[in-house]
Amino acid sequence: MPEKQDYYDSLGVGRNASADELKSAYRQLAKEYHPDVNSEPGAEERFKEVNEAYAVLSDQERRAAYDRFGHVGLKGMPTDFGFGDIFEEFFGFGLGGRQRRSAPRRGADLRYDINLEFEEAVFGVEREIELTRRDTCSRCNGSGAEPGTTPVRCPTCDGAGEVRQVRQTFLGSMVNVTACPNCGGRGEIVSSPCLNCSGRGIEQLSVQRKISIPPGVSDGTQIRVSGEGEPGLNRGPRGDLYVVVRVKKHRFFRRKNDDILLDLSINLAQAALGSEIDVPTLEGDDKLRIPAGTQPGRIFRMRGKGVPHLKRNGRGDQLVVVSVDIPKTITAEQRELFERLSETLGSEVIPQERSLFDDLKDLLSGIVD
Ligand SMILES: [Zn+2]
Ligand SMILES: [Zn+2]
Repeated sequence: MPEKQDYYDSLGVGRNASADELKSAYRQLAKEYHPDVNSEPGAEERFKEVNEAYAVLSDQERRAAYDRFGHVGLKGMPTDFGFGDIFEEFFGFGLGGRQRRSAPRRGADLRYDINLEFEEAVFGVEREIELTRRDTCSRCNGSGAEPGTTPVRCPTCDGAGEVRQVRQTFLGSMVNVTACPNCGGRGEIVSSPCLNCSGRGIEQLSVQRKISIPPGVSDGTQIRVSGEGEPGLNRGPRGDLYVVVRVKKHRFFRRKNDDILLDLSINLAQAALGSEIDVPTLEGDDKLRIPAGTQPGRIFRMRGKGVPHLKRNGRGDQLVVVSVDIPKTITAEQRELFERLSETLGSEVIPQERSLFDDLKDLLSGIVD
């Protein structure tokens, strides 16, 4: 015969442990050795020991008997029942797997992809969308019963939607609660099912909704529209609708976060002499001063001409990346002028020495990608 366990040792507590100390020791150990989470050999045995120890020590009468006479003192007192209930009380679920289909369940979330023009994403827009979703049946209002009739209380579960079964397990007898097989957990039985939904209480419906897209969204932004998902079960709340934003490309503009990038070609004279030019922005043309001697690749920042920030005030900038256009065809007059210019510039070529600035430019080239 195996040696009987010492209940205090099993829980790892001292002889005068308080009820709270017992409880927290038990909680810890039961979690650790629960057969659902611990498949190591011996874990199940250990779990049984822990349960038995707690069942005895948490009961004043049994603890007193055990303290005075040891295991002999417990003769005739059951030490192996109710463990499932102890466990359930602690952790909110039993070992049999609790499945109550009558409990309210939240409806499923839905997703709707919306395609926006570049400008609509920047400045926001209101859109009417059509959504096809499972919805509460419009004929029976979700009851599943044909109008004029009413569902009757299920005789099997007496309307509770669940049935209790006492099961014998290695831990002793346990109460198992499952959905009522007769009514499927609803607690009521529909004798004349709704003609529209065949008693399911749900139908496929198309609904129109107005969706407000705030300024500053970008490709992939999700907008949650609360309570516009599928209906819940058993009076559970509806799910949510997630509108996922897709943004079309623009002919000229690109976005980098809340900045707008624009590639702009200027001519040789504008680059060499400097100029004030009209630059397209999302809100029409705006003046930009190009200083004399501007090099290709230079970036000009037009403050506050970018995308409004989505979650705070203010907006990004527009970054203008300048390239210098070398003419591919020239007129006779331009040829003459270039030749005269060429004489003044000379014919010497110089390899360009790399500067710290060039390194930095490489590093930052992500901005002009
Ligand atoms: Zn219906
Ligand atoms: Zn029932």
